[in-house]
Amino acid sequence: MIKVACVGGYSEVGKNMTAIKIDDEVIILDMGFYLPKLLDFEERNSRKNITRENLIELGVIPNDEFIRSWRDKVKAIIVGHAHLDHSAALPYMEKNYNAKIIGTTFTNAIIKILARDEGIELKNEIINLNPGKKMEVSKDISIEFVNATHSTPESTITAVHTKYGSIMYCNDFKLDETPVIGKKTDYNRLKEIGKDNVKLAIIDCLYSNNNTKTPSEMLARQMLKEVIFENATQGVLVGTTFASNIARLKSFLEFGMKMNREVLFLGRSMEKYTRAAEDVGIVNFSQNSEIIKYRKDVKKKLKEVEKNKDKYLIVTTGNQGEPGSILVSMANGEMPLKLDNNDSVIFSCKTIPVPNNFKNRLTLEKALDRKSVNVFLDIHQSGHGARKDIEELISILKPEHIIPGHGDPSKFTKMSILAKDINFDMKKIHIMENRQKLEID
Ligand SMILES: [Zn+2]
Repeated sequence: MIKVACVGGYSEVGKNMTAIKIDDEVIILDMGFYLPKLLDFEERNSRKNITRENLIELGVIPNDEFIRSWRDKVKAIIVGHAHLDHSAALPYMEKNYNAKIIGTTFTNAIIKILARDEGIELKNEIINLNPGKKMEVSKDISIEFVNATHSTPESTITAVHTKYGSIMYCNDFKLDETPVIGKKTDYNRLKEIGKDNVKLAIIDCLYSNNNTKTPSEMLARQMLKEVIFENATQGVLVGTTFASNIARLKSFLEFGMKMNREVLFLGRSMEKYTRAAEDVGIVNFSQNSEIIKYRKDVKKKLKEVEKNKDKYLIVTTGNQGEPGSILVSMANGEMPLKLDNNDSVIFSCKTIPVPNNFKNRLTLEKALDRKSVNVFLDIHQSGHGARKDIEELISILKPEHIIPGHGDPSKFTKMSILAKDINFDMKKIHIMENRQKLEID
């Protein structure tokens, strides 16, 4: 008997966590943050000494109390990729479990940095499992990471192999034929698994309402190249993107070097992710750029930049207009670097559709506009598959049951329409919300 507990990420885009009980053993998939709630909190308070209970109450991490009776049965905590909405709650939650933590080398490097930065010592052992590899977690259950393209390195589709068939956890993925870093999605392996019995697939449906296929990261790279080489002005170039998108950071770095500009990565999260990428040998950022973590050092460096603006390309945090971020501080004139009509700001991102982001981004764009800065928007492609990617994945895996994931009921409805259109048995698509359980026989 398989029971699925939807702990988080089924009533919002974030704090992903799913627990799967196979007979008397439990596997946990992801433990992530709901970032909007964290940012709300951090605008007014420090995260220092904050507890798991505080974070649950604030809605920042999943509330796993309703699976308390499953605690002793948990055999493994799997983190499918390194994004914070899948990994960042782990340091606060893992102590309540006696189970190994399994992730890829890059994901584990991020988990360790997250724990260390918050002064948390992890109780459970962390085990590296690389894409393409399988690991037995008990006599009856094995875990396999299948390489998948997304927007952070070493992303995986997780297969939980059981005697009832495989359970495929496909949060998050897109089907990218030309990823800038890493290999294509391992279609062969997915096809092999699909030929056997896939009992259930939990599928990232964030963009299921988008009728296309999500374009490749290579297109994002081309767009960025065009802006940097053809449209950017003579002043300072400031780019902003998701720090976890190592492929994008690499593109910024390479274009900056080609222009003979000194490349700077600014901010705590840029430091976290570039260091992790470097530690596991994906991109050696520090060889060709300067990575500056702390605000006082950022300010010091920006004083130098102010004197020779056209010698620098800066990549910084604040792409969602987060109050207090470096980019917002720059736009508000609170930094030694003063932006004007010779300077360019490139948003290599999209606004994540969660509360506050649209408002924050608009405020930031208005501030830049008042300074007549050249602003380039949406120089980006998403890491989440759209409808065509989802259809293709379903046709490869042929799951018996589907649970739409990584969204809220509005996204899940679109997924039901998609399933109906491809003649999927509608009784076997299960729309779930947080803190609901589903039994599959
Ligand atoms: Zn992700």
